[in-house]
Amino acid sequence: MIDNMSKLVKSLRIDNLINGSFKPSSSERRQPIYDPGAGEEIGFVPFSTKEEVKDAIGAAEAAYDKWSKIPVPDRIQYLFRLKNEMESHKDQLARSITLNHGKTISEAEGELERAIQNVESAISVAYTLYKGEYMPTVASGIDEMSERVPLGVFASINPFNFPIMVPFWFIPYALVLGNTIVVKPSEITPLGMFMVGEIFQKVFPPGVVNIVNGAKEVVDELLSNPSIKGITFVGSTNVAKYIYKTASENGKKVSASGGAKNFAVVMPDAKLEQTVANLIPSFFGNAGQRCLANANLVAVGGVYDELKRKFIEASKRLVVGYGFDRGTDIGPLVTESAKNRVQGYIEKGIEEGAKLVLDGRNVRVPDYPKGFYLGPTIFDEVSPDMVIAKEEIFGPVANIMRVESIEEAIELINRSRYGNAASIFTTSGVVARKFASEVIAGNIGVNVAVAQPMAFFPFGGMKESFFGVLHPQIETVNFYTDRKIVIQRWF
Ligand code: NAD
Repeated sequence: MIDNMSKLVKSLRIDNLINGSFKPSSSERRQPIYDPGAGEEIGFVPFSTKEEVKDAIGAAEAAYDKWSKIPVPDRIQYLFRLKNEMESHKDQLARSITLNHGKTISEAEGELERAIQNVESAISVAYTLYKGEYMPTVASGIDEMSERVPLGVFASINPFNFPIMVPFWFIPYALVLGNTIVVKPSEITPLGMFMVGEIFQKVFPPGVVNIVNGAKEVVDELLSNPSIKGITFVGSTNVAKYIYKTASENGKKVSASGGAKNFAVVMPDAKLEQTVANLIPSFFGNAGQRCLANANLVAVGGVYDELKRKFIEASKRLVVGYGFDRGTDIGPLVTESAKNRVQGYIEKGIEEGAKLVLDGRNVRVPDYPKGFYLGPTIFDEVSPDMVIAKEEIFGPVANIMRVESIEEAIELINRSRYGNAASIFTTSGVVARKFASEVIAGNIGVNVAVAQPMAFFPFGGMKESFFGVLHPQIETVNFYTDRKIVIQRWF
């Protein structure tokens, strides 16, 4: 299928990849999957049974012994092949993301680049950070060393909004360090990983990577199964808390990334043209469905009027449309219920007394009248205690707020329960430095509105945006290995 996307039919069935073979789930329970741009069903995803999850875990366990013993330079070759296969199928993979998620094709291509960069980063990890330490003669005739060891089978639970990139924050590192893995894609956007599964099937020995589709029941089996050594989760905060608590109680390592409500602060000395050009995609790109999306635009002092005018003007110029059309700036929301949820927040904002200065609810995409579209929506005069200012809306909705000083802006940000990202726009190094050091958020942008860390940095997250110690991307080297200390003496 990966070589011929045009074969995709309306009755696409998402199968599980278990022990190197694609198998249809025996479950009767299923959920439709959509092309959100057209507003049409394209197939369905099963809610796999507990037995199927156990089969996947069993396959990963059986593959572990041999996989973990492959010499590191040889194991790396599998990742080079993974990278090559992903690159040679970039178009098909990007199209699968756009088809099932709705984001624009250029956003999907960007997502894939980030996924591939994590494969490269994992390869570098195997040659560098994987190495241990050694000290001769820590006592007379005694040497001491530490070595990193893989742990066994891991599980990765993923959100809908980056169907391929987020699983790749974890999979390549787990594998290159000698572990095997069971991946659960989002049940809303499983198509991307289904396609990547064909590559896994071609590249890796059976059982090394397994994909099981479903929702809570699948997750609960992964959380309770004693063979799973650790769980990574990326998704909303309430579920992240549940995963963190349950996995910990069950004695597993856990890294759980949660939701976000990000602030962009604009100082009076900011270069407004460039600032607004940078801000717009951060609020509305991916239809606002990004954990690094900005949601609250904070104008400091006198910049307020001019910033507001420019921001609204630029937002009005955005083209809402089908993700496959190259002229589109903003694709649809991922499902009809996501669209309804965001509309609910817009109604809530009006009810709370915020001033709706741009209303995206009536946007029309003539060729796709059934698509789940919402245009850019902007509220002005938003106060920090309004629900729309506090909760994660996860849609193309921007709140404009005004404060009078950088101190007030920082205090506003630090009151949020979330701490995923924050950015500042200024020409003052002093102000930027104060912001970066005093704001409690894991990813800080200085004149950069989407502060997305490269694969070879950890993906930050603080407060209720992250639960655990070790963050996604390169830091997982410590998640996917343990340290064994060897103290030796030879008589
Ligand atoms: P979600 O929490 O609804 O679902 C994420 C995963 O958890 C899915 O695989 C789903 O099947 C599973 N799940 C859902 N409810 C569950 C339950 N009760 N018990 C067990 N498993 C359950 O998240 P989503 O809507 O798919 O994704 C959007 C969210 O993800 C947003 O909050 C966004 O901010 C967040 N996100 C965060 C980051 C980050 O790095 N912090 C990155 C991407 C997305």
